[in-house]
Amino acid sequence: MSGRLEGKRAFVTGSFQGIGLGIASALASEGAELVLLGLGDAEVVARGEAAVRAAGAARVESYVSDLRDCDATESVIGKILSGGAVDILVNNAGIQHTANIEDMPRSKWNDIIAINLSSYFDTMRLLLPGMKEREFGRVINIASVHGLVASMAKSPYVAAKHGVVGLTKVAALECANVGSSQTGGLTVNAICPGWVGTELIEPQIQTRVDKHGGDRVAGIADLLSEKQPSKRMSSPEEIGALTLWLCDKAAHNITGAAIPVDGGWTAQ
Ligand code: NAD
Repeated sequence: MSGRLEGKRAFVTGSFQGIGLGIASALASEGAELVLLGLGDAEVVARGEAAVRAAGAARVESYVSDLRDCDATESVIGKILSGGAVDILVNNAGIQHTANIEDMPRSKWNDIIAINLSSYFDTMRLLLPGMKEREFGRVINIASVHGLVASMAKSPYVAAKHGVVGLTKVAALECANVGSSQTGGLTVNAICPGWVGTELIEPQIQTRVDKHGGDRVAGIADLLSEKQPSKRMSSPEEIGALTLWLCDKAAHNITGAAIPVDGGWTAQ
């Protein structure tokens, strides 16, 4: 089945590392052209590009741009579109900060809402028209279990992720009648991971490791046992595999879904 995405161009935000890189690599493995975007220095960009090229990308281009700045996003997307259409959009960029509401800095609220929610609106606003015109498109929004349920000390993150799930449903409805099963349609879905082993959760792991006197294995087991019944982390590659599957033409009738990948977290 290799080469299923030959001739398709995919734009993945937050893609120089973590889940975004896992997704970009999965899409590359089927021959897609990749457009990467995130924050980082030349070394971070080069490492991300090399991984995606090694996975099989037909072509890779990269942008370093701050998604909090919607004018910058408009300008980047203008440049991306001047090089050709975007068939697959994966909104993945995100940050985290944990504190109770009374201790949550207002600036963290602003940043998390801007990156984890508003940037997803910006990219869809700018890229859905082209997908509608070509009668094919895939939008995959990386939400979280926190788009479905709450945890303490994550007010902006939970608000943003619930927002992503709602935004996904609206976009899915607005695009549901585009194209056909032959063209593959235009679908918009959210993936809702539980714990995935990336830098984003490192501070939360470190708190548990400290609680267990520096024992990393015990700290991670403690974190997982609280809410994720499988007691197993997911990997970025596994989130990539699901994204890839949603890009298949056969998935033309899966739209507006919020798919948990959470080891049973939200089944409780
Ligand atoms: P990560 O920290 O490894 O990667 C985040 C990416 O977002 C980086 O590439 C970073 O450059 C980019 N980014 C951050 N701020 C940005 C900004 N202002 N402008 C442009 N890019 C920016 O994190 P990850 O775990 O790979 O997270 C990816 C997504 O998955 C996030 O939306 C996160 O909320 C979600 N998620 C993660 C987990 C988990 O356990 N790791 C669980 C559920 C959902």
